[in-house]
Amino acid sequence: MSPQASAVATARAIFSPTVDDAARHLFNDRTLDRYRHTMADGVERIADRIARTDRPFTGVSPDDLTPGISGIDLDRPLEDTAAALDELEDVYLRDAVYFHHPRYLAHLNCPVVIPALLGEAVLTAVNSSLDTWDQSAGGTLIERRLIDWTAGRIGFGTSADGIFTSGGSQSNFQALLLAREEALAKAALGASRDVMDRLRIFVSEAGHFSVRKSAKMLGLSPDAVVTVETDARKRMRPQALAWELEQCRWAGFIPMAIVATAGTTDFGSIDPLPAIARLCADSGAWFHVDAAYGCGLLVSRSRRALLNGIERADSVTVDFHKSFFQPVSSSALVVRERATLSHATYHADYLNPARMVEQRIPNQVDKSIQTTRRFDALKLWMTLRIMGPDAVGDLFDEVIDRAAQAWVLLTVDPRFEVVTRSQLSTLVFRYLPPEGATRDLADGANLYAREALASSGAALVAGTKVGDRHYLKFTLLNPETTVDDIAHVLDLIADHAAEYVERRRRTS
Ligand SMILES: *Cc1c(COP(=O)(O)O)cnc(C)c1O
Repeated sequence: MSPQASAVATARAIFSPTVDDAARHLFNDRTLDRYRHTMADGVERIADRIARTDRPFTGVSPDDLTPGISGIDLDRPLEDTAAALDELEDVYLRDAVYFHHPRYLAHLNCPVVIPALLGEAVLTAVNSSLDTWDQSAGGTLIERRLIDWTAGRIGFGTSADGIFTSGGSQSNFQALLLAREEALAKAALGASRDVMDRLRIFVSEAGHFSVRKSAKMLGLSPDAVVTVETDARKRMRPQALAWELEQCRWAGFIPMAIVATAGTTDFGSIDPLPAIARLCADSGAWFHVDAAYGCGLLVSRSRRALLNGIERADSVTVDFHKSFFQPVSSSALVVRERATLSHATYHADYLNPARMVEQRIPNQVDKSIQTTRRFDALKLWMTLRIMGPDAVGDLFDEVIDRAAQAWVLLTVDPRFEVVTRSQLSTLVFRYLPPEGATRDLADGANLYAREALASSGAALVAGTKVGDRHYLKFTLLNPETTVDDIAHVLDLIADHAAEYVERRRRTS
């Protein structure tokens, strides 16, 4: 090789090597000691914090925390890991909300399993991006195996496919995007404004708000989402759905999608999937099952039958970060027909040219509404490889059993009224003030009890509305929550509520 043709020789002649101090923070083969120590220090801090956490929350207020965080000069680094961890303790760790605590009973947040934490540590260090094979290699294949595994659990055939997403809201959005495109294609009408305005989505009154939000993002009419009545246990009434579909037909609207919820966020109710599937087939609508919460039943050894009919869906939302004990985020959209995912496919010359498909190089970006995407699937992979699906299902079964016990506690306690017995693990209930109390007083007592409990930090519970009345909600996802914990929290709620009633009586 002549010297002129060597870029190395030219570079050495022109540039002197740079020594960059900041490079010591980069993760590579020369910084492994720093990596090991930094991560170990971090793990130690977290373990120490968890060991000293005796409540799910400290009750800190935004006003308490804001000055400490605003006061930090982000342009002046501490230059020291221990100092940064000390600071983190003050601005975050000490006052964070801890889902692993048995008296965290508020939202659909689960304690996480250790194999998934290991997966998380691996996936962020390797930092694969799951859009293309050339950014992930085996990661792409692992994600595909997990989608196939999930599809198998659902009962889909070999033409099923899917994609990991950031969460149930994104999964629902993508499902409805596919449903919209299918409806437009079926009508062979293109996306004319008139047709878009006539598309309708049916979901029960207990369904998730992301359905409405998705309809808006999809450019549908403000009236696109039709709310279907539920029965006493908050499951969609098939007769009501049939009636709404009939109305839709008379009005000349197009039934774009029916969304059945397998585990409603408030009530844990599972819509009657087989009956809805039949109505769906008759109407030609896309059948989406939102199993963001109920997906844990896919691995339950005793309750899988609650999901019967899910295999007839066109698409299913599963949130592993709810009932599979996975860290946020870990969710997927699984579809019956692989081909339908192509509605989200675009080709970029730099990333996924059509030629790659011809070369049969696998890529996931064709199926996703994201581009750069985390290898969240690895957490579930490690969970299945270390614990296995039965162990995960057993944990979920345990919280459902616990919710049934809590329901008994509530039904025999005259201080409370419980709305319905959940098929999963929520309880919606309220404190009943003494006879003759106004609605206003009842609402006030429940609102107050929730806030007082949160500021004490002794337990966290959620609030919701049934009709126009204020209720409280337990969402049980922690198998370590005992009946005793639940009974204790009920007593605390009753005390706070009674105190409110007493105070109102004195001041009126
Ligand atoms: C939680 C939930 C969602 C939204 O999921 P995210 O992961 O929070 O985006 C959708 N549907 C139901 C029924 C849910 O419970």
